[in-house]
Amino acid sequence: MTFSCNLYLYHQLDLLPEGLRFSYDDPHLWQNSYPQCGGAYQSPIPLSTHKAIPIGLPPLHFGHYEQPFDELLSVRNNGHTVEFKVPATVLGERPYVTGGLLGDFYEAMAVHFHWGSPQRKGSEHVLNGRRYDLEMHIVHRNTRYQSDEEARNQTDGLAVLAVLFKVVRTSYPYYQPGLNEIFGSLLHLGNFNSSYTPPAFLTLGSLLGNLDRGNFYAYMGSLTTPPCSPSVLWHVFAEVLPISHLELPKFWQLRDRRGRPLLHTFRPLQSLEARQVFRRRAPAETYVWS
Ligand SMILES: [Zn+2]
Repeated sequence: MTFSCNLYLYHQLDLLPEGLRFSYDDPHLWQNSYPQCGGAYQSPIPLSTHKAIPIGLPPLHFGHYEQPFDELLSVRNNGHTVEFKVPATVLGERPYVTGGLLGDFYEAMAVHFHWGSPQRKGSEHVLNGRRYDLEMHIVHRNTRYQSDEEARNQTDGLAVLAVLFKVVRTSYPYYQPGLNEIFGSLLHLGNFNSSYTPPAFLTLGSLLGNLDRGNFYAYMGSLTTPPCSPSVLWHVFAEVLPISHLELPKFWQLRDRRGRPLLHTFRPLQSLEARQVFRRRAPAETYVWS
């Protein structure tokens, strides 16, 4: 066992602990080395339109989400997922969110994905009994806290925005400019630790396409990878974005640090226990979508 070594590494690492040697082969064993993975307030969970509590949450406010980044992105295969760190925008600040369940401002830190395989769908959250094909996480840190480690130790330390994707057969990829740049990068990221810089100045908002940002589920949960810190205010959008059947397979050709296919990168559903899940529905859209 090499757990003590991994725990040592963990203290040197940033938000998404890339040096950790966890595996999606045995997520039920994560708690042996990361006790919080066996604790309370774990994610992901099943979400249900009818069981969620409809309340008048304020809308999310997206600060600087439409401002171009002031540098090109570096998208990387870290052996667990594909990830990029969110740079500052041309205004010199990172994009941020507030509103929803968030009482503070949360700066965007990193974006990564979870997926399945040709045989299994791979979103982490399950919505109304359906698992979707892909899930994108935009991880934000509460600006009250000075470091990722400090934020992980607070119940309001992090905010993750989650977007679910459903594969659709099309003769050409959807026009979702930011997402298309990221999906296109995947062909360059087959090997562990490889990185690629899409030659375009993107905005964080472009990763949300035309998503209806007013309708979402919100609850208190955790990171879905070790150390599983129960420090995340989750906001999962109700609308599911399309991904072309030409794009989704690009995730399946990635490889992990041992050269094996990087598949099924989602954590099993966790127990809801006594938690409440809230649902915000924008009043103006009530009749359009029901
Ligand atoms: Zn994630």
